[in-house]
Amino acid sequence: MSDHDFDLFVIGGGSGGVRAARIAAAHGARVAMAEEFRVGGTCVIRGCVPKKLLVYGAHFAEDLKDAKRFGWQVPDSCAFDWKVLRDHVLADVDRLEGLYQNTLDSHGVTSFHQRATVAGANEVELADGTRHSAGIILIATGARPAVPTCPGAEFGITSNEAFHLDSVPKRIAIAGGGYIANEFAGIFNEFGAHVTIVNRGADILRHYDDSVRDRLLQISIKKGIDFRFNAPLERLEKRDDGTLVGHLTGHEPLEADVVLFAIGRRPNSEGLGLEALGVEIDAEGAIKVDADSRSTVPSIFAVGDVTNRVQLTPVAIREGHAFADTQFGGNPRHVDYDCIPSAVFSHPPIAAVGLTEALAKERYGTVKVYTSDFKPMKNVLANRDERSLYKMICDDTTGKVIGLHMIGPDAPEILQAAAVAVKAGLTKQQFDDTIALHPTMAEELVLFK
Ligand code: NDP
Repeated sequence: MSDHDFDLFVIGGGSGGVRAARIAAAHGARVAMAEEFRVGGTCVIRGCVPKKLLVYGAHFAEDLKDAKRFGWQVPDSCAFDWKVLRDHVLADVDRLEGLYQNTLDSHGVTSFHQRATVAGANEVELADGTRHSAGIILIATGARPAVPTCPGAEFGITSNEAFHLDSVPKRIAIAGGGYIANEFAGIFNEFGAHVTIVNRGADILRHYDDSVRDRLLQISIKKGIDFRFNAPLERLEKRDDGTLVGHLTGHEPLEADVVLFAIGRRPNSEGLGLEALGVEIDAEGAIKVDADSRSTVPSIFAVGDVTNRVQLTPVAIREGHAFADTQFGGNPRHVDYDCIPSAVFSHPPIAAVGLTEALAKERYGTVKVYTSDFKPMKNVLANRDERSLYKMICDDTTGKVIGLHMIGPDAPEILQAAAVAVKAGLTKQQFDDTIALHPTMAEELVLFK
């Protein structure tokens, strides 16, 4: 243990920071944490958790329609009260924030509910002017939604504000074609808003497999979501009646009541005093770290979105855990970034692990691709014209499964289990050797022809 006030001072109480603080404390370290906003970070407060609850809420729109075909007498038009859902979701966020704080308290972590900056290689300064020394400083300040620099950008909102709207807008334009754009497009469309996705390029979800993202595009269009591609936003205008008008290159102006920016997230590295100490930061604002999450200043580490390695909660948690085990638990280990499963909670959701077909071909030359394009039995009875698509990509020589891509109901739930097999390097034959669990959608994974 060092002569400092604390062995570890964590700046930022999100997924990565809280995990690092808790594990380091469990290893016997004297730990402090500063959080200027709310404990829990993006995931709990204004990201994954409230988003997923809204996705559940939104899906009732389809379930209630389908219920009739299953014999339930449901009125033709069911009323939806946004404020009821919003307030229940926000209350659950409060509950979770309390649990996170309890975890820190029960592990003896000293919490400071204020902004902290780095005053020296081993010194942190709090907003109230007090200073604390620490053997190690961990930066876990996350990222924030990017906002365009075009004129009128101040009239738009980001995902942070989307959870607090007073009502469901009649018309919403969403700039961006990635995770947040497609997830919120699905949510607001199910709630009855007219949604237009405005994308600077020609593709949505560029890093996902072509087949599944094209399937999402086709289904989204069928559900009534509009898309404007190759449509960079030039400026946003606000009329006297509050209507927003997006002026787009090469397209007619677009009117909306709300414009949501979902154009990526920028690391929160500014204003922390890092550059002055020699902590290197890249052009995107990410703190440069090595495999131990150590920055270019040996006593300063960083985990999670502020490092811009993979902007996913479970990755930040792994990084925080590995950091704490390595520095305080006598158990040096690194995060394995290979085969990270991911999902888009669109309507229907997408889930994937491993290489896309395009990347697999690039890397392996020839690959074997198996697809299953089917209508889930629930959709058949519901008369819902919506097909699922599963795709397996295998190394042609060994038969090893190197990519699995799915779009359809519960795809993320199914893929998490299948990802274990892909991560373990199993072959298509080993999938086939497993007897199908019938009748399920997941059985398609062992029945590819
Ligand atoms: P994404 O990186 O998913 O998508 C960004 C989109 O915005 C892309 O379509 C991109 O286009 C476009 N874009 C980027 N820069 C600009 C710009 N300057 N002007 C206009 N368009 C631009 O970002 P999101 O904001 O949707 O999400 C941020 C991150 O949060 C994700 O990358 C993900 O890591 C995480 N996240 C994960 C979720 C999950 O796991 N389910 C859910 C939500 C967020 P182009 O393709 O041309 O680059």
